[in-house]
Amino acid sequence: MQILKKRILEDGVVIGDNILKVDNFLNHQIDVELLDEIGKEFHKRFGNVGLTKILTVEASGISVACATAREYKIPVLFAKKGNVSTQNEGNYSSKSFSFTKNEEYTMNVSKKYIGPQDTILIIDDFLANGLAIDALLEIVEQSGAKLAGIGIVIEKDFQAGGRKLREKGYHLESLARIASMGKNGIIFA
Ligand code: 5GP
Repeated sequence: MQILKKRILEDGVVIGDNILKVDNFLNHQIDVELLDEIGKEFHKRFGNVGLTKILTVEASGISVACATAREYKIPVLFAKKGNVSTQNEGNYSSKSFSFTKNEEYTMNVSKKYIGPQDTILIIDDFLANGLAIDALLEIVEQSGAKLAGIGIVIEKDFQAGGRKLREKGYHLESLARIASMGKNGIIFA
């Protein structure tokens, strides 16, 4: 997606070896026109596959999920992050590990809002090692819902998440794939 790649080159800030900050347009300040284009692009790529809900995780996936859900005219469901003590029988729960915060956390989704009748598209802002997506996949599996695909705004190809998901046969669409970041700047795949 050219306008997204252009924006990453203009405004993305590389931290260390493997963190990309996009606080200028996605993760802090949000460019809603770009967000609209992202929603349209996901709609184009996944097409009409009978989706009933978009699933994401708080907080940074929510804006992108909403832009996509607007195109499909379906609700967004976001997993809430909490610790084990907040789990209860009314939730599907799975454990994940935060790449940016370096800590374990639990994702919770109410059983009221997802079930075998649903067809789900998972959306998130970044794909690195794939642990956030793995936890969302586990929730979809627990619920008995059908999974249509996984949409990612920025995939870092030099981390293993995307490869693992493709090997497992998931329909994964990433709007910008970064092959490397560092001294030579940001290089797209
Ligand atoms: P993963 O679970 O795939 O290792 O990491 C994905 C999650 O970590 C995403 O939900 C995202 O919030 C965060 N994340 C991973 N890499 C980056 C990055 O380079 N920049 C930012 N801003 N977030 C990232």
